[in-house]
Amino acid sequence: MRKFLISFLTIILLLFISGYLYLIPADQDKEFVLTGTILTMENDGPNTNAVWVRNGIIQGLGEAAISAAAEKGLPIKDLGDNALTPGLVEPHTHPVAAALLGATVDVSAFTHSSRQEIMATLHEAADGIALTPWLIAFGWDPVAIADLAPPTLEELDALSSDRPVVILTQMMHEAYLNSVAFQAAGVKIIDPDDHTEGFIRDKSGKLTGVVREVSAIGKIISAAPSAPNSVSELLLRLQFKKYAKAGYTTIGVTGAVGRLPDPVGMLKKISIEEISPLRTFVYLLPDQVAKYPIGGNDRFQVLGLKLWLDGSPFTGGAAFEDGYHDSELTSKRLGIPHTHRGNLNYSLDDLRKIIPAYHAKGYQIALHVQGERAIEEALTIFEEAIKSNPKPGLSHRLEHNALITEAQLQKAKKLNLSTGFFVDHVYFYGDALPQLIGPDRVNRYMPVKSALEAGLVTSLHGDHPATPVDAIRIMTTATRRLSKSGKNLTAPNQAISPQQALYAMTMGGATQLQQQDIIGSFKVGKQADFTLFNKSPLQTLAEGKNDLKVIKTWKSGLETATGSLTIEHISLGFSALKQMISK
Ligand SMILES: [Zn+2]
Repeated sequence: MRKFLISFLTIILLLFISGYLYLIPADQDKEFVLTGTILTMENDGPNTNAVWVRNGIIQGLGEAAISAAAEKGLPIKDLGDNALTPGLVEPHTHPVAAALLGATVDVSAFTHSSRQEIMATLHEAADGIALTPWLIAFGWDPVAIADLAPPTLEELDALSSDRPVVILTQMMHEAYLNSVAFQAAGVKIIDPDDHTEGFIRDKSGKLTGVVREVSAIGKIISAAPSAPNSVSELLLRLQFKKYAKAGYTTIGVTGAVGRLPDPVGMLKKISIEEISPLRTFVYLLPDQVAKYPIGGNDRFQVLGLKLWLDGSPFTGGAAFEDGYHDSELTSKRLGIPHTHRGNLNYSLDDLRKIIPAYHAKGYQIALHVQGERAIEEALTIFEEAIKSNPKPGLSHRLEHNALITEAQLQKAKKLNLSTGFFVDHVYFYGDALPQLIGPDRVNRYMPVKSALEAGLVTSLHGDHPATPVDAIRIMTTATRRLSKSGKNLTAPNQAISPQQALYAMTMGGATQLQQQDIIGSFKVGKQADFTLFNKSPLQTLAEGKNDLKVIKTWKSGLETATGSLTIEHISLGFSALKQMISK
């Protein structure tokens, strides 16, 4: 217990130190004018030189703003060489999971380059001070790290024989467990009669240590003791600040996953505060529907439902039309036979029991779809639901869309769906994609330009914690289609213009969240949500430069990115400590 306590004290202390660097600016003006380069994302005036804000709402632009400042003697803040855009929108992310994973052992390819390094990190963590009752590691990434074969059960047991160990992959669609973790979750190590989906056994019925896909991983995670509520809340508040520092002012939570008693409740509690740096729009998991009706306000709102129709392309989970590519990566490192096409998590009949009913009640439905078969199933069920009950104002969402075809894009447009693309795949996995799906499919991977050409509402997302929060990387990748190593271009014909990328990150995301009337652009009457860059993102992206930075953000006219540690954080920290000490 003493070990835990010391560790938690250290964590809390570090959180405070990091928090104090960003104290919220005092006495912010309720009415002011900003002048400088302003990119409006509106067709009738793409640039302006001034914006007038009162009580969090845009009152006027350009000349109107400048004369208001003169007439009313308003404070004018000059933006200098910087450039102001609408607040960025991240329409697909998982802040609770990200917050909690922030406290896990990092085994990602962002910080490691070989299996040996990762195993060393794991052993060090297992031998060191125990921060939590379970050892949870996150970021195992066999696609980004060339020699990363899955750990065997023996290797996992060698990490610890008495403390449960869970290693989550970067895409969170696969996990590796030691025997103690399986036992803690009530799963028998040897059981030839157990064919529960997701728990991978060898021919003798012995677990291999590998667990696949959301429901099986969820079963394991739910067996782990959760962190004290105030620790989780503090972590989530710091997570919000992280999005704000990256330039985001709005997030869409596509599944409030995360090991908390009430993740939606905690998101709501933080988001409805005036000082929250983010607006939060939530898509519930089916088991959260009973507790939270759809609706809310412009700070926190439940929009609908999230379902995963298939899994990740990097774990064999994507429901492709054709099998995986036959390569060393698929056969040896990932253990995916090249005939494998990925499974659908729901049959069409399953979906018929779920989707039409939610559609009828006005829920906006976001479906995780990567492979063509998953997308086809989504289109079929949406077509049925819409035909039997047309709802013109309701636009459902297709998430990720790795291999959506031209015909499917056309059909999605007819059904008034929106598409969100996970272009980080191109950056982090662009080097591995040819070995995973072969050159023909690489040439049509994440077809953002085709979606725009089909006239679909289109957004870009980072699916944090699947990748680190970084809006600039996403825009850059969408315009260049370059891998992290700089060696590979993935479907360069799908590159979009800087203007299209910034639009997707602002109005595109806002429209996808059905909030286009309140955020997403500079328009009189909209919320004063802004992101300040060190220079014009449009110009910088067009020039192919890498020195673009986010300086700060405003939400409802309040500066946010520079601050959010408040007296509330401090009292939370103390209550977290108290809870730890009393355990
Ligand atoms: Zn996601």
